[in-house]
Amino acid sequence: MATAIITGASQGIGACIAKRLAKDGFDIAVNHFPSESDQAKAAEVARECEALGVKAVCFAADVSKYDQCEAMVKAVKAEFGTIDVLVNNAGITKDGLMARMSEENYDAVIAVNQKSVFNMMKNVCSVMMRQKHGHIINVSSVAGLYGNPGQVNYSASKAAIIGMTKTVAKEFGSRNITCNAVAPGFIHTPMTDVLSDELKAKMLEQVALKRYGEPEEIASVVSFLASDDASYVTGQVIEISGGLSM
Ligand code: NAP
Repeated sequence: MATAIITGASQGIGACIAKRLAKDGFDIAVNHFPSESDQAKAAEVARECEALGVKAVCFAADVSKYDQCEAMVKAVKAEFGTIDVLVNNAGITKDGLMARMSEENYDAVIAVNQKSVFNMMKNVCSVMMRQKHGHIINVSSVAGLYGNPGQVNYSASKAAIIGMTKTVAKEFGSRNITCNAVAPGFIHTPMTDVLSDELKAKMLEQVALKRYGEPEEIASVVSFLASDDASYVTGQVIEISGGLSM
């Protein structure tokens, strides 16, 4: 059985990706931030994955910390034997106009959204190299493609992920490892639920499909990139934004 590890999978898009990959037949490693509430939510996600007939195990790790990622990847390999798919989904926002943004809020977002991707890819790639196959999917954002006022930290982290994706695709292509990114637009999740109605309406003006995306609509593209149907796709960024950029 093939195994997929999804970071930040206790809720939102990550939880949805975990369940979609379980439906596709992957055993699932559900990463969650090491807190009691995340653990409880992740356990529910794992239960829902197992109800689809696969094995699912929760792994607590703060993915911004290299040593925790290293230990988690070792634990996942020991539990499942292989790591076939890595989805770097964990992310946070700490928004504010740059003039007022603290250095602390800049560094925190870079650590969770960007450094985590290095932490996970470095450790998982050494497993995938030995297996001579693997698919990595990194969750970027339209903010990384086009910028977004109030998100200089977030945009920087998500743009960096695109450069990292293309670099890893080139470095590991000869080892039969693909690395792609998805760039979601405005998606219904706890991350966007907190935005004001005024801001939500303003954002939708720019979306051709005139609605928010659903987490399932991100998970279906990740499912494709994790499958053999995408075996000749690497180093690409797939925008999933309802036509935001036209
Ligand atoms: P979400 O509901 O806030 O989920 C993010 C998940 O990541 C949470 O479970 C969170 O745990 C976890 N996480 C945060 N820091 C972590 C850490 N250090 N270690 C491990 N896990 C951690 O957000 P979402 O909307 O589903 O976003 C998922 C991804 O999609 C993110 O990378 C986000 O940037 C990206 N994205 C979202 C949208 C959108 O419109 N929603 C658009 C573009 C891109 P906690 O709850 O404990 O923080």
